[in-house]
Amino acid sequence: MPYAQGAVCAAVEPKAFPLRVEQWFKGNARDLPWRRRRTAYGTVVSEFMLQQTQVVRVCDAWQQFLRRFPTISSLARAPEQDVLAAWAGLGYYRRARHLHAASKAMVALHRGHVPRARHELEALPGIGPYCAGAIASIAFGKREAIVDGNVARVIMRVHGRAVNLTKSTGKRWVWRRAQQYVDAADDPSCANEGLMELGATICTPRLPRCEECPLSALCRARRMGSQQRIPAVRSAPKRMRVHRAAILAESAGWMAQCILPPRGLWARLPFPPMEESGRRLSAAMLAARLGIHKSALRCCGSFVFQTSHREVHFVVWRMDARVAQRLRHAGRDGWFWRPVRSVTKAPSTGAVRQILQCGGRLSRSV
Ligand code: SF4
Repeated sequence: MPYAQGAVCAAVEPKAFPLRVEQWFKGNARDLPWRRRRTAYGTVVSEFMLQQTQVVRVCDAWQQFLRRFPTISSLARAPEQDVLAAWAGLGYYRRARHLHAASKAMVALHRGHVPRARHELEALPGIGPYCAGAIASIAFGKREAIVDGNVARVIMRVHGRAVNLTKSTGKRWVWRRAQQYVDAADDPSCANEGLMELGATICTPRLPRCEECPLSALCRARRMGSQQRIPAVRSAPKRMRVHRAAILAESAGWMAQCILPPRGLWARLPFPPMEESGRRLSAAMLAARLGIHKSALRCCGSFVFQTSHREVHFVVWRMDARVAQRLRHAGRDGWFWRPVRSVTKAPSTGAVRQILQCGGRLSRSV
């Protein structure tokens, strides 16, 4: 339904901006699990999960996570592998480790409660200025600014100005406007969450729905017809291409696994053993690295896995069962063996699921 337009203003009226958003949000907020019964801990978990992950994927994961770890102290007590397993499907596992570390810090420093002050929140692992502002304002009603991609886009369009967010002057400009915005709000929680919601659902990057927008009467970009030019489109950074050969080695119901190094992609997560290289490894090159004959390796598939910065080209190799058995009995640095059933049933990353699918160990529908 088109929103009442009202008179077009020459300048952005500071009070009208948050008030229109608050009024709109009260009638249009999506029904999301963490909004039904708001708790500070639930807000922290949702903010961690929503970084770089779409809302639809977070909804189920958030509910399962809260069932598994209902309190900060239950999360703090849990082994890391349990936390990572509960994070399965969300990707960017560093966030799970940070959330786990933050829960321990909250137990140690804040008696198991979420701190209310921005500076205390920012001192916790994995919580930056945006996340701290979101938690302080949404969970505790503090007048703290937030700026993420959605918020910055709405602010820039409303003010009719495309600033460069990779420059400190641009960042400062947006943060100042975001602070003015929340200072003028009736309810900082509603105003900030409403602004995020508006950016996610109405003022979208490519096709903003200005006719349904509560800010259309204030919005300079709309008046100038420059919505598509604000923010300025910058070319996406080129992804680095890397190659990984994944090895499916099974012996009498056991499968070889390794734990990835503590830094880098999928840090410290269990994977089938892998060899990384600058270009695709042939069977002979991979066999030489493994110290086996190339006839013991059979290629069973390949796929490309994209992350925000990398394009990982996987080739999946199945190892001959007798050779795998020999390696299992001889032992091999960095490899350990788990029952195949527990590998295929355990929650895992999207890349591991695709590796197992290539080897026929998971159905395509998984
Ligand atoms: S009027 Fe259009 S461009 Fe302006 S804030 Fe609303 S959706 Fe965005």
